[in-house]
Amino acid sequence: MPDPNGFLRYDRRLPARRPVPVRISDWREVYPPAGEELIREQATRCMDCGIPFCHDGCPLGNRIPDWNDLVRTGNWDAAVDSLHATNNFPEFTGRLCPAPCEAACVLGLGGQQPVTIKQVEVEIADAAVARDGLRPRPASAPTGRSVAVVGSGPAGLAAAQQLARAGHTVTVYERDDAIGGLLRYGIPDFKLEKQHIDKRLAQLTAEGVRFRTGVEVGVDVTAEQLRAEHDAVLLACGALQGRDTPETPGRALRGVHQAMAHLVAANRVVAAAGNGRPALATLPDGTPIDAAGKHVVIIGGGDTAADCLGVAHRQGAAGVHQLDLYPQPPTERDAARDPWPTWPWLLRSYPAHEEGGERVFAVAVQEFVDDGTGQVRAVRIAEVTVEKVDGRRIVTPLPGSEREIPADLVLLAIGFEGTEEQPLLAQFGVARNARGAVDSRPDWQAADGVFVAGDMHRGASLIVWAIAEGRAAAAAIHAYLGGVGELPAPVDPARQPLAAR
Ligand SMILES: Cc1cc2nc3c(=O)[nH]c(=O)nc-3n(C[C@H](O)[C@H](O)[C@H](O)COP(=O)(O)OP(=O)(O)OC[C@H]3O[C@@H](n4cnc5c(N)ncnc54)[C@H](O)[C@@H]3O)c2cc1C
Ligand code: SF4
Repeated sequence: MPDPNGFLRYDRRLPARRPVPVRISDWREVYPPAGEELIREQATRCMDCGIPFCHDGCPLGNRIPDWNDLVRTGNWDAAVDSLHATNNFPEFTGRLCPAPCEAACVLGLGGQQPVTIKQVEVEIADAAVARDGLRPRPASAPTGRSVAVVGSGPAGLAAAQQLARAGHTVTVYERDDAIGGLLRYGIPDFKLEKQHIDKRLAQLTAEGVRFRTGVEVGVDVTAEQLRAEHDAVLLACGALQGRDTPETPGRALRGVHQAMAHLVAANRVVAAAGNGRPALATLPDGTPIDAAGKHVVIIGGGDTAADCLGVAHRQGAAGVHQLDLYPQPPTERDAARDPWPTWPWLLRSYPAHEEGGERVFAVAVQEFVDDGTGQVRAVRIAEVTVEKVDGRRIVTPLPGSEREIPADLVLLAIGFEGTEEQPLLAQFGVARNARGAVDSRPDWQAADGVFVAGDMHRGASLIVWAIAEGRAAAAAIHAYLGGVGELPAPVDPARQPLAAR
């Protein structure tokens, strides 16, 4: 029986982040472990409210009150099992999820601070590693059926693990040189150290999953070949088509880049150093992958922009501005706009914001300014208002509000336009819809025997959704292959986040 008064005795507390001057001098994670005493105290704040809306907030349907109580009572082995019953990779979500479950926690309804669900989750995940090093759970008998998974992000990996444990032979094809999708080279080490991916991959390998890196499906191997070799194919290729701004004057100047070009290259430098390999020093166009001593301007307000901010500070930027088109969001939930338990529009400050830089809201770039040699020296911005008219975004500059911000390096983190246009699509007989995503039928098939999941299906989203879709697509593939019993399917293809309307 959970403690009904725990939240009255304990305030919400998170472990202290490592001090800013220390953490920006390395690439290690920002948060140290919480420690058992703190985490059991925080788990005690879960009152087992009876109707746990956090279950609906979490696309995986994580059994949050169950594992909170198991942690409260020090029953770690059972907590590990309970968490893994719904989530293949809690070490990723516990570190990286924005925690829509916490926005839906009943404590938030009563004016209290929600339970630190995500922190409890990561501590359970790390306890699993500490206890038995992620013990493999291979299938008891092979089914003789074979599945190709294209793309090794969280969607592809979750599906691969579910299918391998059900006895199918699974091969994951990845065009990159390492497995992990955006977790590997998109998300910096200060948010997710790569040892966590490697430990999980060791488990998947021991469970029989085969990995083939450096293979671009559609180019190095055709869809026809893959279909001949496998009984079903899952496409989990992500939504990596970066949005650009070709119409802005000066876009072609040196020093103006897609954020992902800089971020991925910077993360590769860190990976290479960790592997004892020589670091790549430049982008393909010869630009040094380094913000050291530079005035950096990041355009955009999401995860990618915040990750660029953290990278720029660790590289030694002289100064960083982060520009956002929209006005500064409120710091408290606007209940009329986003009633509990929905995900509220709020000013979100990541640890990277604590490390420095200036955020500028309600502005738009009018021009990237040339220094006379073809290199950017500033961005000219204007204050703007933004309205939606017939679903279209109308951005109106305020007359007389223009000014320049110095810039040697400009990073465009203005979102993604869906999955990339690539040969694989036509070869499998699938196409991008108006949002750049690939639609599926209710059974996750985009074409006969070809399934789709994760960002490729949903559009750029979150790790928790990618895992949920990977699990659900695996359940559909298992049924398609005539597998015995049912695998869990936490979401259907039409499922959307909790919304008021
Ligand atoms: C910079 C950044 C930071 C983020 N931070 C967070 C965060 O903190 N929290 C969070 O929840 N979400 C975050 N996200 C979003 C999250 O990373 C994605 O939603 C998630 O990774 C999607 O998983 P996925 O498996 O669908 O695709 P991805 O992770 O994108 O993986 C797709 C994989 O498919 C491979 N591929 C593509 N085409 C082929 C082909 N033809 N052949 C072989 N392989 C192919 C790609 O190389 C890639 O490895 C972030 C995203 C970005 C860009
Ligand atoms: S995966 Fe995300 S939404 Fe689900 S319990 Fe963990 S932090 Fe909450």
